[in-house]
Amino acid sequence: MSIKENLNTIKADLPQTVKLIVVTKTHPADKLMEVYKNGHAVFGENKVQELIEKQAVLPNDIEWHLIGHLQSNKVKHIAPFVSLIHSVDSIKLLKEINKQAQKNDRIINCLLQVFIAEEETKFGLSFSEAGSLLASEELKEMKNINISGLMGMSTNTNNEQQIAKEFQSLKHFFDSKKDTKTHNVNLETISMGMSSDYKIAIDNGSNMVRVGSSIFGKRS
Ligand SMILES: *Cc1c(COP(=O)(O)O)cnc(C)c1O
Repeated sequence: MSIKENLNTIKADLPQTVKLIVVTKTHPADKLMEVYKNGHAVFGENKVQELIEKQAVLPNDIEWHLIGHLQSNKVKHIAPFVSLIHSVDSIKLLKEINKQAQKNDRIINCLLQVFIAEEETKFGLSFSEAGSLLASEELKEMKNINISGLMGMSTNTNNEQQIAKEFQSLKHFFDSKKDTKTHNVNLETISMGMSSDYKIAIDNGSNMVRVGSSIFGKRS
Protein backbone atom coordinates (compact mmCIF):
# COMPACT_ATOMS: atom_id res chain seq x y z
CA MET A 1 0.00 0.00 0.00
CA SER A 2 1.05 3.60 -0.55
CA ILE A 3 2.07 5.99 2.21
CA LYS A 4 -1.24 7.79 1.69
CA GLU A 5 -3.29 4.62 2.04
CA ASN A 6 -1.38 3.52 5.13
CA LEU A 7 -1.79 6.94 6.72
CA ASN A 8 -5.51 7.05 6.01
CA THR A 9 -6.05 3.52 7.30
CA ILE A 10 -4.34 4.30 10.59
CA LYS A 11 -6.09 7.65 10.98
CA ALA A 12 -9.47 6.07 10.38
CA ASP A 13 -8.66 3.56 13.08
CA LEU A 14 -7.60 6.00 15.81
CA PRO A 15 -10.11 7.33 18.35
CA GLN A 16 -10.46 11.13 18.12
CA THR A 17 -8.81 11.53 21.50
CA VAL A 18 -5.55 10.00 20.26
CA LYS A 19 -2.96 12.18 18.55
CA LEU A 20 -0.82 10.61 15.82
CA ILE A 21 2.89 11.40 15.58
CA VAL A 22 4.21 10.17 12.24
CA VAL A 23 7.72 8.89 12.91
CA THR A 24 9.91 9.94 9.98
CA LYS A 25 13.41 8.87 11.07
CA THR A 26 15.65 7.61 8.24
CA HIS A 27 13.18 8.80 5.59
CA PRO A 28 14.11 11.62 3.20
CA ALA A 29 12.26 14.94 3.09
CA ASP A 30 10.28 14.04 -0.05
CA LYS A 31 8.63 11.15 1.81
CA LEU A 32 7.66 13.54 4.58
CA MET A 33 6.17 15.87 1.96
CA GLU A 34 3.96 13.03 0.80
CA VAL A 35 2.50 12.80 4.29
CA TYR A 36 2.29 16.59 4.57
CA LYS A 37 0.38 16.89 1.29
CA ASN A 38 -2.10 14.39 2.64
CA GLY A 39 -2.94 16.74 5.46
CA HIS A 40 -0.75 15.47 8.28
CA ALA A 41 1.88 17.82 9.70
CA VAL A 42 2.99 16.27 12.99
CA PHE A 43 6.32 14.47 12.73
CA GLY A 44 8.62 12.70 15.19
CA GLU A 45 12.36 12.19 14.81
CA ASN A 46 14.72 10.41 17.18
CA LYS A 47 17.96 12.20 16.28
CA VAL A 48 18.65 15.91 16.62
CA GLN A 49 20.81 16.12 13.49
CA GLU A 50 18.18 14.55 11.28
CA LEU A 51 15.45 16.65 12.84
CA ILE A 52 17.17 19.97 12.18
CA GLU A 53 18.12 19.03 8.62
CA LYS A 54 14.53 18.22 7.72
CA GLN A 55 13.06 21.13 9.63
CA ALA A 56 15.27 23.48 7.60
CA VAL A 57 13.89 22.37 4.23
CA LEU A 58 10.25 21.59 5.01
CA PRO A 59 7.22 23.90 5.51
CA ASN A 60 7.06 26.10 8.60
CA ASP A 61 3.74 24.88 9.90
CA ILE A 62 5.01 21.38 10.71
CA GLU A 63 4.91 20.35 14.36
CA TRP A 64 8.21 18.64 15.24
CA HIS A 65 8.56 16.15 18.08
CA LEU A 66 11.85 14.80 19.40
CA ILE A 67 11.16 11.22 20.48
CA GLY A 68 14.66 9.76 20.92
CA HIS A 69 17.34 10.14 23.55
CA LEU A 70 18.52 13.74 23.86
CA GLN A 71 21.95 14.88 24.98
CA SER A 72 22.13 18.17 26.89
CA ASN A 73 24.65 19.69 24.50
CA LYS A 74 22.23 19.31 21.58
CA VAL A 75 19.20 20.98 23.12
CA LYS A 76 20.16 24.39 21.73
CA HIS A 77 19.70 23.18 18.14
CA ILE A 78 16.04 22.29 18.56
CA ALA A 79 15.02 24.81 21.23
CA PRO A 80 13.86 27.47 18.75
CA PHE A 81 11.12 25.34 17.22
CA VAL A 82 10.56 21.91 18.81
CA SER A 83 6.99 21.42 19.85
CA LEU A 84 7.32 18.48 22.24
CA ILE A 85 10.29 16.56 23.65
CA HIS A 86 9.14 13.03 24.58
CA SER A 87 12.38 11.80 26.06
CA VAL A 88 13.26 13.80 29.16
CA ASP A 89 15.01 11.46 31.56
CA SER A 90 16.98 13.66 33.96
CA ILE A 91 16.79 16.90 35.89
CA LYS A 92 20.07 17.93 34.25
CA LEU A 93 18.51 17.67 30.80
CA LEU A 94 15.42 19.50 31.98
CA LYS A 95 17.57 22.37 33.29
CA GLU A 96 19.27 22.73 29.94
CA ILE A 97 15.92 22.67 28.11
CA ASN A 98 14.67 25.37 30.46
CA LYS A 99 17.76 27.47 29.82
CA GLN A 100 17.56 27.19 26.05
CA ALA A 101 13.82 27.81 26.07
CA GLN A 102 14.44 30.99 28.03
CA LYS A 103 17.00 32.13 25.46
CA ASN A 104 14.38 31.64 22.79
CA ASP A 105 11.73 33.37 24.86
CA ARG A 106 9.39 30.39 24.78
CA ILE A 107 8.03 27.56 26.85
CA ILE A 108 8.99 24.07 25.72
CA ASN A 109 6.61 21.19 26.35
CA CYS A 110 8.25 18.03 27.70
CA LEU A 111 7.23 14.50 28.56
CA LEU A 112 9.07 12.52 31.19
CA GLN A 113 10.18 9.22 29.71
CA VAL A 114 9.48 6.45 32.17
CA PHE A 115 11.09 3.05 31.95
CA ILE A 116 8.37 0.38 31.80
CA ALA A 117 10.01 -2.38 29.74
CA GLU A 118 11.78 -5.49 30.92
CA GLU A 119 14.82 -4.79 28.76
CA GLU A 120 17.86 -3.07 30.18
CA THR A 121 18.59 -1.12 27.02
CA LYS A 122 15.85 1.48 27.00
CA PHE A 123 16.26 4.97 28.44
CA GLY A 124 14.00 6.45 31.03
CA LEU A 125 13.27 7.22 34.66
CA SER A 126 11.91 4.71 37.14
CA PHE A 127 8.51 5.52 38.62
CA SER A 128 10.13 6.66 41.84
CA GLU A 129 12.64 8.87 40.01
CA ALA A 130 9.83 10.41 37.98
CA GLY A 131 7.86 11.01 41.17
CA SER A 132 10.84 12.69 42.86
CA LEU A 133 11.50 14.84 39.82
CA LEU A 134 7.87 16.01 39.71
CA ALA A 135 8.03 16.93 43.40
CA SER A 136 11.47 18.55 43.34
CA GLU A 137 12.28 22.11 44.32
CA GLU A 138 14.58 22.44 41.31
CA LEU A 139 11.67 21.82 38.98
CA LYS A 140 9.57 24.53 40.64
CA GLU A 141 12.16 27.13 39.64
CA MET A 142 11.99 26.37 35.94
CA LYS A 143 9.82 28.93 34.23
CA ASN A 144 10.31 27.99 30.59
CA ILE A 145 9.28 24.37 30.51
CA ASN A 146 5.94 22.65 30.82
CA ILE A 147 5.81 18.99 31.74
CA SER A 148 2.72 18.04 29.78
CA GLY A 149 2.82 14.29 30.25
CA LEU A 150 4.65 10.98 30.23
CA MET A 151 6.14 8.66 27.63
CA GLY A 152 6.89 4.97 27.79
CA MET A 153 8.01 2.13 25.53
CA SER A 154 7.02 -1.48 26.03
CA THR A 155 9.28 -4.51 25.82
CA ASN A 156 9.90 -5.74 22.30
CA THR A 157 7.96 -8.99 22.61
CA ASN A 158 5.01 -10.81 21.06
CA ASN A 159 3.50 -11.31 24.49
CA GLU A 160 0.52 -8.95 24.29
CA GLN A 161 -0.41 -9.45 27.92
CA GLN A 162 2.99 -8.32 29.01
CA ILE A 163 2.84 -5.28 26.74
CA ALA A 164 -0.61 -4.43 28.09
CA LYS A 165 0.63 -4.76 31.66
CA GLU A 166 3.53 -2.41 31.01
CA PHE A 167 1.28 0.23 29.46
CA GLN A 168 -1.18 -0.16 32.35
CA SER A 169 1.62 0.52 34.81
CA LEU A 170 2.36 3.86 33.14
CA LYS A 171 -1.33 4.77 32.93
CA HIS A 172 -1.71 3.96 36.61
CA PHE A 173 1.22 6.23 37.50
CA PHE A 174 -0.14 8.95 35.20
CA ASP A 175 -3.53 8.80 36.92
CA SER A 176 -1.92 9.01 40.35
CA LYS A 177 -0.08 12.24 39.37
CA LYS A 178 -2.66 13.84 37.09
CA ASP A 179 -4.13 16.11 39.75
CA THR A 180 -0.84 17.60 40.92
CA LYS A 181 -0.98 20.70 38.75
CA THR A 182 1.61 23.45 39.14
CA HIS A 183 2.80 26.32 36.95
CA ASN A 184 4.96 23.90 34.95
CA VAL A 185 3.41 20.48 35.52
CA ASN A 186 0.16 19.75 33.67
CA LEU A 187 -0.06 16.07 32.90
CA GLU A 188 -2.37 15.63 29.93
CA THR A 189 -0.46 13.52 27.45
CA ILE A 190 0.44 9.88 27.71
CA SER A 191 2.64 8.93 24.75
CA MET A 192 2.60 5.15 24.36
CA GLY A 193 2.48 2.88 21.35
CA MET A 194 4.35 2.37 18.08
CA SER A 195 3.51 0.38 14.91
CA SER A 196 3.57 -3.00 16.61
CA ASP A 197 1.68 -2.09 19.78
CA TYR A 198 -0.29 1.12 19.38
CA LYS A 199 -3.65 -0.65 19.53
CA ILE A 200 -2.73 -2.26 22.85
CA ALA A 201 -1.46 1.12 24.04
CA ILE A 202 -4.74 2.85 23.18
CA ASP A 203 -6.75 0.12 24.90
CA ASN A 204 -4.65 0.85 27.98
CA GLY A 205 -4.96 4.61 28.09
CA SER A 206 -2.59 6.12 25.51
CA ASN A 207 -3.62 9.41 23.91
CA MET A 208 -0.54 9.88 21.72
CA VAL A 209 0.96 7.24 19.44
CA ARG A 210 4.26 7.32 17.54
CA VAL A 211 3.95 5.37 14.31
CA GLY A 212 6.61 4.94 11.62
CA SER A 213 6.94 1.63 9.83
CA SER A 214 3.20 1.00 9.50
CA ILE A 215 3.11 4.13 7.34
CA PHE A 216 6.43 4.10 5.48
CA GLY A 217 7.20 0.38 5.48
CA LYS A 218 10.13 -1.26 7.19
CA ARG A 219 13.21 0.91 7.69
CA SER A 220 16.35 -0.35 5.95
C1 LIG B 1 11.27 4.58 15.81
C2 LIG B 1 10.45 4.97 16.97
C3 LIG B 1 9.05 4.83 16.94
C4 LIG B 1 8.28 4.26 15.76
O1 LIG B 1 8.55 2.93 15.53
P1 LIG B 1 7.77 2.08 14.41
O2 LIG B 1 7.92 0.70 14.84
O3 LIG B 1 8.45 2.38 13.12
O4 LIG B 1 6.36 2.56 14.40
C5 LIG B 1 8.35 5.24 18.05
N1 LIG B 1 8.97 5.74 19.14
C6 LIG B 1 10.30 5.89 19.20
C7 LIG B 1 10.91 6.47 20.43
C8 LIG B 1 11.09 5.51 18.12
O5 LIG B 1 12.42 5.67 18.18
